[in-house]
Amino acid sequence: MLLTHSDFEKLLETREPTAEELTAINAYCPMGSDPWEASELLRFPMMASNNLIHGSLMAWDETALTTMVASYPGCPLMIDHEWDRCEKTFGMVYDALLYSLPRVSEEGMRKLLSKSPNPSEDRAIIERDGYHQVLVFAFVEQSHPGASDVLYGRRANVSIGANFYGKSYCPICNTPYEDENCPHYPPYMMGWVEEELLTPYYRRTGKIDSLECSFVFAGNCRQARILDKSLTAFVMA
Ligand SMILES: [Zn+2]
Repeated sequence: MLLTHSDFEKLLETREPTAEELTAINAYCPMGSDPWEASELLRFPMMASNNLIHGSLMAWDETALTTMVASYPGCPLMIDHEWDRCEKTFGMVYDALLYSLPRVSEEGMRKLLSKSPNPSEDRAIIERDGYHQVLVFAFVEQSHPGASDVLYGRRANVSIGANFYGKSYCPICNTPYEDENCPHYPPYMMGWVEEELLTPYYRRTGKIDSLECSFVFAGNCRQARILDKSLTAFVMA
């Protein structure tokens, strides 16, 4: 079910979890400890990923994003993808969903394409496959020093951390690059093959095993950030 504009207004009008959200969050409360209370927590929604072309000239497809969503609940929220430093985690993801639009309004297109490294290809992706946004919901205790960094906007951009098991597809032939009928190469082969054989981006499909969601200075996905009141990072129509 799609969230409506009033659902979002409700979501953004309070930083504490609602009763329903608190039940979902308390599923992660360690056994034997008292359930967390809404007034102890700060919860926030983030646009974590989508099917547009990222800064690395890669685009996830809907299958990959669906598995990203399924494996997100229970993952830590952290800083700068510092996977070898457990003290860099400061919260937890408790829910995630794929918000899919079969079509995007011209206003939505303008919002998305203004941040795009490749607007004509991004427009073609949306017109062919629709637009898919990964919404991630996370919480942290209000007394944690990391919480004020979020509340005052010092941390806003986010980026996903995951293992990927799948294939890279040629967006021109719609087959894996290793298919004998595909003469193309992904853009990261620049300098190794003839330039006219490079595709403008490559598409990844397969299984994503989400590991964490990080606050970063600037992410690979241009639209990935915490949802703010102007909804700059999120397209509803
Ligand atoms: Zn090809």
